[in-house]
Amino acid sequence: MADKVYLCIDMKSFFASVEAIDRGLDPFTDNLVVADPSRGSGSVCLAITPAMKALGVRNRCRVFEIPKDIKYVTAMPRMKKYMEVSAQIYGIYLRYISAEDIHVYSIDECFLDATPYLKMYKKTPKELAILLMDAIKAETGICATAGIGTNLFLAKVALDVTAKKVPDHIGYLDIDSFKKELWHHRPITDIWNIGGGIAKRLEKYGVYDLYGVTQLAPEILYKEFGTNAEYLIDHANGVEPCTIADIHNYQAKSHSLSNSQILFEDYKYDDALIVMQEMVDNLVLELVEKNLVSDELFLGIGYSKDVHRPTGGSRKLPAHTSSFKTIVREFIQLYKDTTVKGVPIRRLSIGLGHLLDADTAHLQLDLFADLDAEKKEKDLQHALLGIKEKFGKNAVLRGINYFEKSTGRARNKMVGGHNG
Ligand SMILES: [Mg+2]
Repeated sequence: MADKVYLCIDMKSFFASVEAIDRGLDPFTDNLVVADPSRGSGSVCLAITPAMKALGVRNRCRVFEIPKDIKYVTAMPRMKKYMEVSAQIYGIYLRYISAEDIHVYSIDECFLDATPYLKMYKKTPKELAILLMDAIKAETGICATAGIGTNLFLAKVALDVTAKKVPDHIGYLDIDSFKKELWHHRPITDIWNIGGGIAKRLEKYGVYDLYGVTQLAPEILYKEFGTNAEYLIDHANGVEPCTIADIHNYQAKSHSLSNSQILFEDYKYDDALIVMQEMVDNLVLELVEKNLVSDELFLGIGYSKDVHRPTGGSRKLPAHTSSFKTIVREFIQLYKDTTVKGVPIRRLSIGLGHLLDADTAHLQLDLFADLDAEKKEKDLQHALLGIKEKFGKNAVLRGINYFEKSTGRARNKMVGGHNG
């Protein structure tokens, strides 16, 4: 785990930059506001260019709050356009970094595990950041900023706090420099995941910065914040055990794939079995498309006019797989073991649970090869503790799905001829 290097890359005033560049304007010298003017002067500015920030205009202010003597262009928000540019930027990362080492955090922010690529490209972390930032600038015109850190938390704080103070827009933090530069930083709400609510509760104990958090007894913090105290204490010490692989696994684990259908007429035992196999076929296809593997099956059968209570059950596979042969064989066996013969069937549902990212599933097995299954599960759970609180806030998974689709769409466009 030692010597990890993460990058966190963010687009400067993303929406406003996209709109400015689209109009041939320079976000650093031209004034532009992204807001819906049809909503009147009370509408919120979704974004403003850095040029306007330099004039003292607050991000997310209301239109009427902009001083009257400042001339600016107003742009209607176009989420679809921003999503497309975001997907374009994701495509740029993919040229250098594999998807398993990228975590899309928001529409204009990504975490990258740079560790394996520094040797590969013979670059320092900063040089790799510059390579990516230059590519983004050259292809989209947008100025990116970057944080470099020895864990995900430090990379994020390096981006949010340190990068703002340096002319090259690249911040760097390891545990030592973090303690030196951020332990006494105020306000504490500049620190990722520490909002006004947490800050207020810390004030009760006379704590106004991260150093203060390190000086409080853990019992007090656990009493005040419950299990969230764990990451507060970790972060105050510059520690973050979560990796991008953990996040991806958590995302995969946190949902299952399922499919169900109501049959239009009564189906006999053998006919319903054929329908079930078709459904399994589709579900496994979806599994493979999403690069996931499963080791848990669910089956549910409903009967005509409820003459029999629903049947079904679940089955555990010996290993994670996306093999149709294995999965359909187990489903057929589960069907035969649980479905009542001679009663007409009207409803079928199947599911695959305990999903893992196919790329990381085998890694994990290697990692825990000498441990027994229970310990394996426990360690994994522990590694995953708190991921949702820390990384799941922005409905990231939906974002990733969108990215995959839209990069696919962009590629189709490049190939051409696939309209509609
Ligand atoms: Mg941004």
